[in-house]
Amino acid sequence: MCGSDITSEERSGTVTLVAMKKLLLATRNKGKIEEFRRILEEIAPGEIELVGLDQFPDLPDVEETGSTFEENALLKARQMSAATGLPAIADDSGLCVDALGGDPGIFSARWSGVHGDDEANLLKVLDQMKEVKGGDRSAYFICVAALALVDGTSKCEEGRFLGRLLDHPVGENGFGYDPIFSPHGYTISSAQMSAEEKDAISHRGKALRAIAPHVRKMVAGLG
Ligand code: IMP
Repeated sequence: MCGSDITSEERSGTVTLVAMKKLLLATRNKGKIEEFRRILEEIAPGEIELVGLDQFPDLPDVEETGSTFEENALLKARQMSAATGLPAIADDSGLCVDALGGDPGIFSARWSGVHGDDEANLLKVLDQMKEVKGGDRSAYFICVAALALVDGTSKCEEGRFLGRLLDHPVGENGFGYDPIFSPHGYTISSAQMSAEEKDAISHRGKALRAIAPHVRKMVAGLG
């Protein structure tokens, strides 16, 4: 190590260790965890330690009883923060189809009646849209990211990903409705994009990048 890298505390024999602040990421979705870790590292490198729900295996899932994306995201962040004593971040997302009056919306994950059955959900939307052509097939993904602190303070940010619905599923990447969603300005589906390509323009990427500075300020006390 060259001389200029040594702090005055080190020279005098004491080293100051700054404890990283912990933040709970209230999701069991590995893709979301990795995506948020990447975004937070860009904005606040080495400042916050992300803790996953895998460290709290006994915590029950939060029931999404809200009537908006924001209510559900806040519900999850607040309940998980209260249960763990850590500041928590959660998100709620879904697909809104204009010709269906914004459906499936907050019911996206269980649109076919079975929670998490991506293929059945997607086929139901395609069936509902079979008579709808051209520009009327516009749709968007939405994501609300919520941050809740132990003292009850909270903050929400929203991201949208605009596009249109295809007639049939294409592509192997992503999850959920990606195979039938073509982003605005593209001819491919979001299931044909790499994870990095989608993160850069997606609803979740936008919402997480918008909430990250609040995390830096409210959790790490920086910024
Ligand atoms: P949740 O935010 O985990 O409750 O997920 C809501 C549902 O919306 C998912 O199960 C998917 O069906 C859909 N969804 C949300 N984001 C995306 C996305 O980026 N691609 C495809 N489907 C998505």
